[in-house]
Amino acid sequence: MGSKATPDRADVLVVGAGAAGLMASAVAAGRGLEVVLLEKNARPGLKILISGGGRCNLTTTLRGRALEAQYGERRGRWLRHALRSFQPDALRSLVERLGVPLREEDLDKVFPVSGRSRDVLDAFVRHAVAQGVDLVREAPVEGLRAIPGAGFEVVTPRGRYAASRVVLCTGGLSYPKTGATGDGYRFVQELGHTLVPPVPALAPLGLDLPWLNQLQGLVLDARLRLVDVGGRRLVERRRPTLITHRGLSGPAPMDVSGYIEERHGFGCTLCLDLAPERRAEDIDAALIAAGRGGEGRRAVQHLLPAEIPERLRLALAEQAGAQGSVAELRREARRRLVESVKDLRLPVERSLGFGAAEVTRGGVPLDEVDPRTMESRLVPGLFLCGEILDVDGPIGGFNFQAAFATGRLAGLNV
Ligand SMILES: Cc1cc2nc3c(=O)[nH]c(=O)nc-3n(C[C@H](O)[C@H](O)[C@H](O)COP(=O)(O)OP(=O)(O)OC[C@H]3O[C@@H](n4cnc5c(N)ncnc54)[C@H](O)[C@@H]3O)c2cc1C
Repeated sequence: MGSKATPDRADVLVVGAGAAGLMASAVAAGRGLEVVLLEKNARPGLKILISGGGRCNLTTTLRGRALEAQYGERRGRWLRHALRSFQPDALRSLVERLGVPLREEDLDKVFPVSGRSRDVLDAFVRHAVAQGVDLVREAPVEGLRAIPGAGFEVVTPRGRYAASRVVLCTGGLSYPKTGATGDGYRFVQELGHTLVPPVPALAPLGLDLPWLNQLQGLVLDARLRLVDVGGRRLVERRRPTLITHRGLSGPAPMDVSGYIEERHGFGCTLCLDLAPERRAEDIDAALIAAGRGGEGRRAVQHLLPAEIPERLRLALAEQAGAQGSVAELRREARRRLVESVKDLRLPVERSLGFGAAEVTRGGVPLDEVDPRTMESRLVPGLFLCGEILDVDGPIGGFNFQAAFATGRLAGLNV
């Protein structure tokens, strides 16, 4: 097929059958267009399949400004049109109409009732095919060429395809084993686009601190603040934090990882407030009172806020040089201890990288794409949607919401 003189022609070629591509192709085909959807893998939508720990956190209960704010001010403003024309409730209605009942969970998250991401994926694939999309699997696009006056041509090992319009939704660089290997970045650059350097985001953090690493498995309800080398506050999160043998994971550390990676190894400091409901003065006063009163013989860690797991309290006391009884606690050690409870400072330079990152921050710059249509401002007829764009959100269904909403806009306008 690769040697054919004339390529197969369609109205629209969609490259990449992830969340964005499945949506864009189904919407375009629903408008009566002839759509070919080219997917590198034998199986489309691998990221949907592995998402949310296999349960697919499809979207969020947030809407309007609260939703847009999750992507940061600049990106949220750019996404406004896509999100307002396809709010999370619209995505939920669509998925339920496709036969997958959904339910709300903690932290504003929405999941399929079945707890199976496969149900979501199968529904989107069935829907696209039912709309008339010609889904071609095992068709990695190797090159994308603009042909003056005649649209675009793509080359795959299965043959060449041509169309007057192309939707590129090849995703980013995270979890490359799912097919996201950054191919689209090369294609857009060859066509004249620039690139915001892609960095891993929503990845666990690597911290090589034996005293912390040995506490693996503990879950903390901490407030986490990230500051740069100049002491400037970059982002703050109050969501669960999990200590692992390699560092920190869970929603809060993963949410801040993109900010660390954006600093390209210059390093940041994580400041953890391990007892956000308590004031430093009160913790200090409680230690002083215990030392002077009848509790003087108790070990220091037992007088720290009980919401901190005991193993961590003990480790904090050791780190502060405050082992022993509270009566013996010296002022300097007490000060260090209280500070470590309210403002535990951990230097951090890296996340665990693209292999462990749920999304990619960076990509096609937003000012090079029309937010009302998803059409490139530089290459007429080229549409971009999903994670290939310089858009990412925190954990909580925000990345699928952005991929489906931008995919839908591309499908409507292509
Ligand atoms: C482990 C994990 C868990 C996640 N959990 C959630 C979650 O619960 N909720 C949430 O909102 N987000 C989650 N995400 C993020 C979410 O999966 C992505 O943001 C979203 O899938 C991006 O959609 P996309 O269509 O833009 O890109 P992708 O889903 O990456 O799809 C891109 C597609 O393009 C194909 N492709 C790439 N190059 C080529 C080529 N040259 N030719 C043809 N095809 C190509 C790929 O094979 C792939 O199928 C998770 C991500 C990971 C890795």
